[in-house]
Amino acid sequence: MIEVRDLVKHYRTRGRGTVHALDGVSFSVGRGETLGLVGESGCGKSTAARLLVQLERPTSGQILLDGRDLLAGGHRSRSGRGRRRSRTIQLVFQDPYASLDPRQRVGDALGEVLTVHRLVSDAAGRRRRIGELLEMVGLPAGTADRYPHQLSGGQRQRIGIARALAVEPAVLVLDEALSALDVSVRAEVMNLLARLRRELGLTYIFISHDLGMVRHIADRIAVMYLGQVVEIGSWDTVSDAPAHPYTAALNSAVPVADPVVEAARPALTVRGEVPDAARPPGGCRFHPRCPLAQPICSSVNPALEPFGPAGTGHRVSCHVVESAQRPASDLLLAHRQEHSGE
Ligand code: SF4
Repeated sequence: MIEVRDLVKHYRTRGRGTVHALDGVSFSVGRGETLGLVGESGCGKSTAARLLVQLERPTSGQILLDGRDLLAGGHRSRSGRGRRRSRTIQLVFQDPYASLDPRQRVGDALGEVLTVHRLVSDAAGRRRRIGELLEMVGLPAGTADRYPHQLSGGQRQRIGIARALAVEPAVLVLDEALSALDVSVRAEVMNLLARLRRELGLTYIFISHDLGMVRHIADRIAVMYLGQVVEIGSWDTVSDAPAHPYTAALNSAVPVADPVVEAARPALTVRGEVPDAARPPGGCRFHPRCPLAQPICSSVNPALEPFGPAGTGHRVSCHVVESAQRPASDLLLAHRQEHSGE
């Protein structure tokens, strides 16, 4: 349904030089599917979100929705308070409070979207549709008369979702949409998203720094590091045997519910911090932090290649993993045992 091809976004800055926020990102998402886009802060996932909803234009690359190139003129639209919105891909923000006008009642905020897009013809239709949207996200009709500050964080996020749904999108991009919520509210909103996906046939791109959160909702995940996708595959495949060393480290940090399994699990960590995106390392961008790095890694950037059994769609960009045809989770353990004399 969505195909992102070789997306590049560079920002020229004063002082820092050119920031390589995205460098050749490609992925696709099928209808009704949820793709989790995961990575640390600064990996480019929020830039990808802004490009998907056309808040910004890429430096180069394509975004196709049902085969239609969204960037090929005539479709440009913008999201956010008081701006025109795309009818096809909508963004749900991390902090809906920041995108809601504090002086505007919830009903007016939703009604504004309906009016701007000429989705209702009269006041009665507008009221009815606002009621439907609130019901869809599990809020009582009376919420329409309330102001954002009178709502809890979870209720505000439901309004953010209702506002995105107002234009009947095919795709929702959820950018850290659950990160600010506490655990019990997060579970409720996650259940709501699962129900909406089922009932409305929505497609989600769920963006998060937290692999543990993504696993509850995503069918497939794409792991990003410093502006590039380093691994992509079904959640089961990637979590059972993470192929990329970076994914293995992220996965190792996700707690397992069974305390016995958790205690027996070796921790796989990587050293150092994410480098500055204005000065990305040459070759594989992960090489300064990678325990498995070889001489080739500092000069040649590995391509995203198929990994494991054919037809799974699992792909990884790593010289060492590709030549060994073993996942990084195995290779890192072997490497650690070798270097600790275990
Ligand atoms: Fe590590 Fe080299 Fe693989 Fe990059 S290509 S992840 S540096 S082993």
